[in-house]
Amino acid sequence: MAAFGTVFTPEMIISRFNNNSWSTPEIVATDSISLHPGAHVLHYSSTCFEGLKAFRHADGGIYTFRMEKNVARLAQSSQLLALPGFDKAMLSKMILDIVSRYAADVPQPPGSMYIRPTHIGTEASIGKAAAPSLESMLYVLLSPVGDYFAGGAKPLRLLLEDNARCAPHMGMVKSGGNYASALQPIMKARASVQADQVLFCPNGDVQETGAANFLLIDGNEIITKALDSSFLHGITRDSILTLARDRGMTVSERELTVDELLERAAKPGTEAALSGTAAVLTPVGTLIHGGKEYQVGSGVAGATTNALRQALNDIQWGKAEDKHGWLTKVC
Ligand SMILES: *Cc1c(COP(=O)(O)O)cnc(C)c1O
Repeated sequence: MAAFGTVFTPEMIISRFNNNSWSTPEIVATDSISLHPGAHVLHYSSTCFEGLKAFRHADGGIYTFRMEKNVARLAQSSQLLALPGFDKAMLSKMILDIVSRYAADVPQPPGSMYIRPTHIGTEASIGKAAAPSLESMLYVLLSPVGDYFAGGAKPLRLLLEDNARCAPHMGMVKSGGNYASALQPIMKARASVQADQVLFCPNGDVQETGAANFLLIDGNEIITKALDSSFLHGITRDSILTLARDRGMTVSERELTVDELLERAAKPGTEAALSGTAAVLTPVGTLIHGGKEYQVGSGVAGATTNALRQALNDIQWGKAEDKHGWLTKVC
């Protein structure tokens, strides 16, 4: 199977904002877009994106998962980047149109169609370092993806880093600059301690990794940072917390310090996991801090982590009732 995110359908859907209006969305070839070299996005990072999935059910139906949440988050990211506003219904229809056109290419579970809406500032103006792009492109890419855990769900090693992932007021924006800002610490963590990811903990406050939210599971309690502007408000995080509440678990959205995390992690039976659309819920086996390694619980994938991931997958795959109305039928 090709690496995640490297295979695209031959077409995508695009709308352009020029002269104060959005063009009628059209289906175009995915292989290229035409952009002025002075485009705002290339200089001042006016870019944001989303990641969601469509699933194939046993009856052949194709369904997106929590699409309205992703559309709303892209609208919010666009607003925070001062990109042109768009009609959420237009983007939802663009997503449904391109997914239904490529319905035959949606893989069977555990595979899915990964959907990547993208919004970039295209105005050709290198003078606008401190002014918004008045032109933009909104397009939706599709990428069929296979089983994320094809090689087995090996518990991750996380390096706890004292610095922030990005500027604190930008954390909730799903924007390219934030990934650029996190790249060097992540590369260093890989090279120096063979960490899979960095867990950013500015001033001892446990935040999130480069592209996933962090959850600590201690018996019947699930603990994760309360929402604020400093980190990305994951839709998988919200879904897992909802399913945890449904199972009668105590959900604590609050500050979690590195000291408390390390203390709790050492207890047998504690679990830690990362949540995100791509991998759903991935177990964390080891935390690395101050040159020391701390095993989380027994260091293997925990039973609660596996059960919550299964519960979410069962809804996505049409094997369990969609009590919260998270699925949208595409075709
Ligand atoms: C996308 C992302 C997440 C996970 O969000 P989901 O909506 O669950 O996919 C978490 N953190 C960062 C930094 C992200 O970019």
